Amino acid sequence: LLEVKNLKKSFGDNVVLKDISFSVEKGEVLSIIGPSGSGKSTLLRCITDLETEDSGEINFDGTFGLVFQNFNLFPHHSVMKNITNAPLKVQKRDKAEVYEHARDLLKKMGLSDKEDAYPSELSGGQQQRVSIARALCMKPDILFFDEPTSALDPELTGEILAVIKDLAAEHMTMVIVTHEMNFARNVSDTIIFMDEGVIVEEGSPEEVFSSDNQRMKEFLGKFY
Ligand code: ATP
Ligand code: MG
Repeated sequence: LLEVKNLKKSFGDNVVLKDISFSVEKGEVLSIIGPSGSGKSTLLRCITDLETEDSGEINFDGTFGLVFQNFNLFPHHSVMKNITNAPLKVQKRDKAEVYEHARDLLKKMGLSDKEDAYPSELSGGQQQRVSIARALCMKPDILFFDEPTSALDPELTGEILAVIKDLAAEHMTMVIVTHEMNFARNVSDTIIFMDEGVIVEEGSPEEVFSSDNQRMKEFLGKFY
């Protein structure tokens, strides 16, 4: 579904991605872990066209949804408008169909009573569930998450991780950058460990978490 080949990206002299290759199959959940500054966000930003790579290939023919750390909702738009804006304006879908889809998603996120609320009236966890509903309302082939719980308190983190787990159970294809190691271990089919712009380890959670690689062990040592 997604294939990344020999991706390279620098900012000035700073080589941030140094020949990244991997692929994602339909229905797969891939988590990307690694130290701060290792290039995880830059990788997602290149794949989702928020950033232009210097060289390499990204083969993906479909729709993607993006969920960020800081929710990125439009503050002046209601929850409903935040969710329906792109499906109506960009995808030019039928209004009645989009509204019905949005209400289904809000119900699934436990937010049926919030469609007229503004983002500032919601908790962080609720805002993040709105932004997941917004991404899903595009009917994405892949959902990308960049540290979706980093801005949340621990109890709200659990609620968002539970939503992502439910999506995994429904076989949503997802690429998740996260610092939640136990979550990554439980939910992922594949884990990629990035350090200094390269993929150091890639494999099943069992393989990656039992790796003998020194950098991998040092990184995991910070969590356990
Ligand atoms: P974190 O876990 O802290 O989110 P990350 O793995 O997502 O880290 P990136 O945000 O991809 O790391 O950053 C990788 C490197 O690229 C850093 O050295 C950063 O300073 C640099 N960088 C990222 N975006 C830009 C930019 N727009 N201009 C210049 N340098 C950038
Ligand atoms: Mg990042």
